[in-house]
Amino acid sequence: MTAFSTLTQLPASQLDNLREMGYDAMTPIQAAALPAILDGRDVRAQAKTGSGKTAAFGLGVLQQIDTTIYQTQALVLCPTRELADQVSNELRRLARFTRNIKILTLCGGQPMGAQRDSLVHAPHIVVGTPGRILDHLKRESLDLSQLRVLVLDEADRMLEMGFRDDMDAIIGHAPASRQTLLFSATWPQDIVAISARFQRDALAVSTEDVT
Ligand code: ADP
Ligand code: MG
Repeated sequence: MTAFSTLTQLPASQLDNLREMGYDAMTPIQAAALPAILDGRDVRAQAKTGSGKTAAFGLGVLQQIDTTIYQTQALVLCPTRELADQVSNELRRLARFTRNIKILTLCGGQPMGAQRDSLVHAPHIVVGTPGRILDHLKRESLDLSQLRVLVLDEADRMLEMGFRDDMDAIIGHAPASRQTLLFSATWPQDIVAISARFQRDALAVSTEDVT
């Protein structure tokens, strides 16, 4: 069991918040991934569902955000609306002491016009599904030119669901200097290929034996 307080990059307010959330110690994947993530490294992480992957990338995402700059600085891609909503909720809980932060969820099945209105003042963090994110990029309602961190959550499921081309196109809109975090429950060969193409010097962490 490793305490969150060993992560010297986390402010005291976040340590208090984690304690209030009932997060007494890091889960194994958090302990393996967070030191490198908070150092700004690219990380690819494999751990089964329910192992706390959201907070592993979420704490990294929040560290990258400068709330005084009104630009989208982080994008989290998820395979489904349900998962995007769960990620947004967890990010909001983790951001409880981050004043004035704007987090927006963008998924299909919702009116495009209302989403475009919400994008007029750029959110700091966007969480969404690949198809709808790409729609906004094509229509230029979403600007990723100032993106600092890109997260591919449940990357294996996104590939299974046929989002490979959308993911490629979206990543093409992000600056090369970004941090890229890749999370997956399984580690098939095509995820290794995605990592090789889109990450730089990625640290691979796993809480299971990779087959
Ligand atoms: P995954 O993305 O790996 O499936 P989640 O991020 O959804 O897992 O986390 C699963 C559950 O574990 C959530 O209910 C979350 O609140 C909880 N959790 C995450 N990190 C911790 C922690 N360090 N201590 C206690 N509970 C945690
Ligand atoms: Mg998850």
